[in-house]
Amino acid sequence: MALSSIVGQHRAVSFLKRVLKKETVPHAFLFSGMTGSGKLATAMEFARAINCLSPRDHDACGVCESCRKLDEGVHPDVIHVASDGAFIKLDQIRELVKRFRFRPFEGKFRVVIIHDAQKLMEIAANGLLKILEEPPEANLFILLAVESQMLLPTIVSRCCQVRLQPLEDRIVAEWLMREEGLSADSAAGIARLAEGSIEKARWFSRQELIEGWKKVVERLEGLDRISILDFFPMVSDWAKGRETVERDLEFVKLWVRDLILLRVAGARNDEKRAEGTIAALTFELNARTRQAAASVPVEHLFVLYQRVELAMQGLKVNANLQMTLEGVCLAIKDYLYGKGNWNSFSKRGQALSF
Ligand SMILES: [Zn+2]
Repeated sequence: MALSSIVGQHRAVSFLKRVLKKETVPHAFLFSGMTGSGKLATAMEFARAINCLSPRDHDACGVCESCRKLDEGVHPDVIHVASDGAFIKLDQIRELVKRFRFRPFEGKFRVVIIHDAQKLMEIAANGLLKILEEPPEANLFILLAVESQMLLPTIVSRCCQVRLQPLEDRIVAEWLMREEGLSADSAAGIARLAEGSIEKARWFSRQELIEGWKKVVERLEGLDRISILDFFPMVSDWAKGRETVERDLEFVKLWVRDLILLRVAGARNDEKRAEGTIAALTFELNARTRQAAASVPVEHLFVLYQRVELAMQGLKVNANLQMTLEGVCLAIKDYLYGKGNWNSFSKRGQALSF
């Protein structure tokens, strides 16, 4: 591994490589970007490149003693600070200060990586600020955070900021195929769900989740033409297990969000933009659903979104599982596919008479 092997962060990587070419390196960096965008991987590769004993083109060689120790997680000059419980506490910063009495053991720099820097308690953040104001020689700080606004502005202003972008769907899909051995189809579907985050992609790629969201979409789209005889058995089958239903409702929410995006893009009457929106959708919606979403009043879709959110809150306080799902499914059927469009034939071919 090396900095050049970081995927999807061309701008951040080329900036860091430019930094490595210079004589003096800033003593503190802030890497920001959403969870799973590769902040830690980039920090580790930067630490490796800066301490490499025989760098190639200002990047790590991957084979020297320093590079190998970093690979094995035993490099004495790379220190991780992560939250102890909900916060990073003052004691942890004090522990850190003790180390600064000594020079780095082996490397040119001691690299201190502060994970989730937004979790610094204020008193700990002030402790860190003091260090950053008078940085000890040969120490390099890399703070990782989702958003720079989550940190004290006084800390941010002491850091060289590097923003990591959400990864493109294509890159996430390629990663899933390579690392998780998924088929191209599944990888593309999950990449859309993952919104540029490898971590989310990894979570969604668990087999039962893939099947879970596919089944949810199938059930939602099936509501269009379902008969009343099939409706209740379908819901009672779905209602097996609180945990899976709660997770499924997350998918339903994303699905309704897709409908809203589609509706709003359609209203703009701008074909190019509408195409862009379709590419941004989480799920692949079938033609009938797209058509339905494009033609209902947008307020209906907002009501649906709210219904799903209420259902999710209800389940957290032990609402009846089956009735909650029935409510959501009936609302989708009414507000999206139109009231009273019950199919008069059940799947078993029985004609219904009302
Ligand atoms: Zn090396």
